Amino acid sequence: MGKAVFRFYAELNDFLDSDKKQKPFEYRFFGNPSIKDAIQAIGVMHTEVDLILVNSNFVDFDYNLNDGDFVSVYPVFESIDISPLKGLTPPLRVLRFIADVHLGKLAKYLRMLGFDTLYSNSAEDSEIMEAAQTEGRVILTKDKGILKNGRVDKGYFVRSDKAKMQIKEILKRFDLYSSIEPFKRCMVCNGEIVNVHKSDIINRIPPKTRLYYDEFRICKSCGRIYWKGSHYQKMMQFIEDVRLPH
Ligand SMILES: [Zn+2]
Repeated sequence: MGKAVFRFYAELNDFLDSDKKQKPFEYRFFGNPSIKDAIQAIGVMHTEVDLILVNSNFVDFDYNLNDGDFVSVYPVFESIDISPLKGLTPPLRVLRFIADVHLGKLAKYLRMLGFDTLYSNSAEDSEIMEAAQTEGRVILTKDKGILKNGRVDKGYFVRSDKAKMQIKEILKRFDLYSSIEPFKRCMVCNGEIVNVHKSDIINRIPPKTRLYYDEFRICKSCGRIYWKGSHYQKMMQFIEDVRLPH
């Protein structure tokens, strides 16, 4: 039997038992398991991990543990520029998401802020993984199981249960503050929304709206029409609120 010492950093501690949090602890193993398997066995999803040091050298997930190794494991530092050090996954640039069935409201908020986010309340895990893989999307989920699947390379376990806290969590985790573009995506279907001439849609808007508003936008996918009515002010207030880091 081999012994290695592990130390997990920052929010990776969220997944550890209390006797392992924020300090080095011993991990025993048979043979030479991959470090990816060891990390998962300890309870941390590989998708949460971005950087692993063994005896002060960078290693990737295929590294096989040896007796006496000292392992430091760091989370995905999307908000800190460590690009020269990154070894495991290419940095996520244009972030696109897919939310699991429990995160409908979060998906709506992400779209409101302009982020491409797929969501269906009936999607199977296999469909979510398929879409994430083919379209390079980050899976947002409340289900740790899906993040342990070997097919998943980009994923994030959403901690909060409240949608407004969840959106704050995502903005902070992926440092999305400077990428917010309100009203670029349809909140209903994730389609792109673009300007449209009032005259082209005049028959589709209520008489009072015709009277008071001249600027309209339309979803290219589902045809829903948007204008800066009373909803708009509330949304802007919401956006101002969630974009505050704390
Ligand atoms: Zn739409």
